[in-house]
Amino acid sequence: MKIICIGRNYVEHAKELNNEIPSEPVVFFKPDTALIRGGEDFYLPDFSTDIHHELELVVKISKNGKNIDKKFAHRYYEEITLGIDFTARDIQQKMKEKGLPWERAKAFDGSAPIGSFVSKSKFTDVQNVQIELKINGQSRQNSSTSLMLYPIDVIIENVSKFVTLKTGDLIFTGTPSGVGSVKKGDVLEGFLNNEKLISFQIK
Ligand code: ZN
Repeated sequence: MKIICIGRNYVEHAKELNNEIPSEPVVFFKPDTALIRGGEDFYLPDFSTDIHHELELVVKISKNGKNIDKKFAHRYYEEITLGIDFTARDIQQKMKEKGLPWERAKAFDGSAPIGSFVSKSKFTDVQNVQIELKINGQSRQNSSTSLMLYPIDVIIENVSKFVTLKTGDLIFTGTPSGVGSVKKGDVLEGFLNNEKLISFQIK
């Protein structure tokens, strides 16, 4: 399986990092070794001193597809969850300045913890759910998926034009504003419409 990530998909987040608002989805990938499931601890890597949390809605692809029209994109996923797109911001900044790829900052082992999946049928509209990240009990990111620049169905249409989506692939749909550093001992909890789907500790 592959992990497809969308960058700069919320205007307020693009602005907080002084990035341009993209004219098409910004796409990058993480390998399957980035995944952490089931609330396992996240170990801070020794190559960075500034690991940022990015809370994101995560979509699990349920059917193989290529060149999927956005009208039919909803048929290609049944379950969603929350994930953290951990980012070595210090490394990413250097890569951005040099115009180099982001993998060293984004694709490292453990950089994609995900929570338990829930059926999208629980929600009247997945493009209008609240996503919230608490660190040590304090709210740090809190937004609505209605603020995505490119909604899930458009992401599926766009990405499937150049890469075949396969059952089990995950799409991280971008983070709202409020990103920041994590430190040893922090407890991260992610809530989807107030239901806790992910919880783990930084080691
Ligand atoms: Zn992200």
